[in-house]
Amino acid sequence: MRDFILDDADKTFRVEASEFLARELAPRARAIEHEDSWEAIKAVVRALGEAGYLKLMFADLYRGSLARPGLTHATILSEESAYINYAFETTIATALSCAYPLHRHATAAVRDRYLPGIVDGHTIGAICVTEPAAGSDTSGMQTRIEYDAARDEYVIHGLKRYISNAAVADVYIVYGITDPTAPPGKGMSAVVVPRGTPGLSFPRRYTFMGRRGCVVGEVEFDGCRVPAENLLGEPNAGSRIMVGMFNFERVILGGSGLGVARSAFDIATRHAQTREAFGQKLGCKQLIWSKIAEMSWRIDAAELLTYRAAKLYDSGVAGKSLMKPAAIAKLVATETATYCANETVQVLGGDGITAEYGRAEQIYRDSRALPIVGGTSEMAKYLIASADLPSLKPNL
Ligand SMILES: Cc1cc2nc3c(=O)[nH]c(=O)nc-3n(C[C@H](O)[C@H](O)[C@H](O)COP(=O)(O)OP(=O)(O)OC[C@H]3O[C@@H](n4cnc5c(N)ncnc54)[C@H](O)[C@@H]3O)c2cc1C
Repeated sequence: MRDFILDDADKTFRVEASEFLARELAPRARAIEHEDSWEAIKAVVRALGEAGYLKLMFADLYRGSLARPGLTHATILSEESAYINYAFETTIATALSCAYPLHRHATAAVRDRYLPGIVDGHTIGAICVTEPAAGSDTSGMQTRIEYDAARDEYVIHGLKRYISNAAVADVYIVYGITDPTAPPGKGMSAVVVPRGTPGLSFPRRYTFMGRRGCVVGEVEFDGCRVPAENLLGEPNAGSRIMVGMFNFERVILGGSGLGVARSAFDIATRHAQTREAFGQKLGCKQLIWSKIAEMSWRIDAAELLTYRAAKLYDSGVAGKSLMKPAAIAKLVATETATYCANETVQVLGGDGITAEYGRAEQIYRDSRALPIVGGTSEMAKYLIASADLPSLKPNL
């Protein structure tokens, strides 16, 4: 049953958000996919921002018709966007991931300089965590953020890779090591680096198997200097800030996985009810029937777990207590997305792998990133088991 966990206000928001996306995103989805159009993505981000949807996470900023903003509604927005085009949705996730630490941890001056543009959809943000030698293992981070007391500035040296919005962002939230002598995870900080800062460059843009329209690449910081006020929170508080950010990003990614899975499922069920083989509709065949059932229960599980995590967040559960439900939501929903994308291709046969017969092949390519971004499925399992085995230190 759809929307079992959602209340009437949430359901009303789902209708409102899907109508908005049908107007603003659906007509541009073709350009995003077939023309690899970042401009089309940017236009929808701007429309979303102007309509107030990027403020959903921030009760004090939100001035829309909603009585109760929060992660549940941001997740609904993510799900409905990903249903139409997952590549676009990643830009929302990144915008919210930038807005969140700015809102919570920036000094008033820095917050007022950068946050309004991001939540209004006029400024594009990027989150810079991953490095060539530090992916899942962020303790291997080599980027250095050094304090220059003489000029009251931070100086950043390092190379980040796989950064969404790499060369097109206006503001970069950069994680790096401020205290190399501290134990792993304890000496990390985060700073805000605006576009145009001397020493900031973009050596490479990646080509992915899906997610067309997205700009993902390397970002290099070669002695970039920012005022000391650009530090988020306290010095060496980066890990705590990152945990908060990943918690809510994983729930949003649960919404993305769910949207992608539903999109694939709808294609599969339509095909199973129309295509004929051996004198019957394809859906009458037991092996196809079974695939539909498998997809269906996985989607239901993903939905319940994703909105459980969103509702927990909205009821005030945070930090370590949210880690396990957020990781479960992300794991189940993103694995469901790749499962459904794969099975849908199989149900469609040749039509499933050709661009001429609909979106199944696009969804298949797009979905593959979901169990990797925002923390891999393996890392999600580590977070889940860590909560269940508190007396043990996992052998990572
Ligand atoms: C399209 C895209 C967009 C992205 N956007 C951003 C972004 O905006 N900002 C950002 O900072 N990063 C971003 N990333 C990076 C993403 O977060 C990383 O790719 C991810 O964290 C995995 O890191 P890695 O690719 O280095 O893989 P690795 O960490 O090298 O892992 C490789 C494989 O080994 C597994 N593995 C690693 N350690 C263990 C272990 N101890 N036990 C078992 N298995 C293990 C992993 O699960 C994975 O399957 C993006 C990535 C992609 C693909």
